[in-house]
Amino acid sequence: MASNKTGPLISIQKALEIILKQVKGTRTRALSPLDAVGCVLAEDVISPDRLPRFSQSAMDGYAVRSEDTSEGKPVLLKVAFSVFPGDSIENLYLKNNEAFEITTGAPVPDGADAVIILEDVEKKNGTIEFRKKVKKGANIRMEGDDIRIGDIAAKKDTVIIPAMVGLFGALGIKSVNVLAPPEIGIITTGSELVSPEDEPGKYQIRDSNEWSLVALLGTMGIKPVFTKRFTDTKGSICNYLESISNMPDMFVLTGGVSVGSHDYVKEELQSFGVETLFWRVSQKPGKPFYAGVKDKTMFFGLPGNPAAVIVCFYIYIRSAIRKYMGKQPFTLHEINAELDSEAKPDKSRTSFIRARYENNRVAPLKGQDSHMLLSFSNANALIVLEPKDKPCKKGEQVRAYLLDNQG
Ligand code: AMP
Ligand code: MG
Repeated sequence: MASNKTGPLISIQKALEIILKQVKGTRTRALSPLDAVGCVLAEDVISPDRLPRFSQSAMDGYAVRSEDTSEGKPVLLKVAFSVFPGDSIENLYLKNNEAFEITTGAPVPDGADAVIILEDVEKKNGTIEFRKKVKKGANIRMEGDDIRIGDIAAKKDTVIIPAMVGLFGALGIKSVNVLAPPEIGIITTGSELVSPEDEPGKYQIRDSNEWSLVALLGTMGIKPVFTKRFTDTKGSICNYLESISNMPDMFVLTGGVSVGSHDYVKEELQSFGVETLFWRVSQKPGKPFYAGVKDKTMFFGLPGNPAAVIVCFYIYIRSAIRKYMGKQPFTLHEINAELDSEAKPDKSRTSFIRARYENNRVAPLKGQDSHMLLSFSNANALIVLEPKDKPCKKGEQVRAYLLDNQG
């Protein structure tokens, strides 16, 4: 176990294990399917309708009686009517030796039991001629052949994907019970910070962590319940937390969690009654990462450095959120790839190196310091290097996580 003068650091695996052990109690919530993409279904969804909703033509052509058709010898049918999608076919009946012009999606009238496609007929003023036998049911989409009333449209425990939302739309399912995403509050801290929308003073900086976190949550379909910004002032965070009547399920804080004399976040959380789960992890960037819990609310204290915030989100917070939503927690895709240029491991901590992965090769990006954001904004992978004294050479196989940037 790595350590230094402020005490031992725990491993990444241990930190993740402690966090995931604390994540409990998924809540069910009824959501519009449109708001539920990525959520896990809490129960089977039973179909209230059938698809197709009525028997309809699968092609552009002519609705016919299959008994009127025959192979080889020419058949002549009178085109008695036209039916297009959206038309009513009440009181319409196809008689012997007649055909109805029909297009894809139009209802098939009584009497007709097949559709002969446009390409197979010759039009002759008001009639069609063809030399083809069409089987009963040919080119007709039968009512209910996709799904019937009472069938299971989607199974409990499955993740809602966009195609499923389309299915729910087709069936008129306006609300589904899902395992709710956690409510998350974001708190950024630092007396130097102004909103990215405001003009900073000469020695101020824009609060990029707020935007990074809001965007990262956005990829998971989550909007924070609030974002707040505090200066490094003793008492302010604790007072604020005490004023909240509805505690969110999780807080993500950034900054003020290190060892500086103005780093008050841990103290503030502790005076609010948060119990510490751990502080400081053997990783780079993100060493001062803190996790705590009070009642059902989890508190993640991320260091202020912008790259550390994003790394901690991908490794820990994303996993905690996914577990909360009933999903497999850690799903960053791990690969082995050939190193494109030399990479420097840390001597005592696991390093996450922002990198670009392409064609089985992974290239460390320029600018790996934890305050640097440009490299992250070009990264699609994080190389994971275990502690080592010597650099990893070009051509070596290394482990990396792919960041699909899609939640
Ligand atoms: P701290 O963890 O508070 O010691 O901050 C570490 C570094 O991150 C400092 O250079 C801070 O100015 C910077 N920092 C802290 N919070 C933010 C933030 N919300 N956005 C951008 N940079 C930040
Ligand atoms: Mg600070």
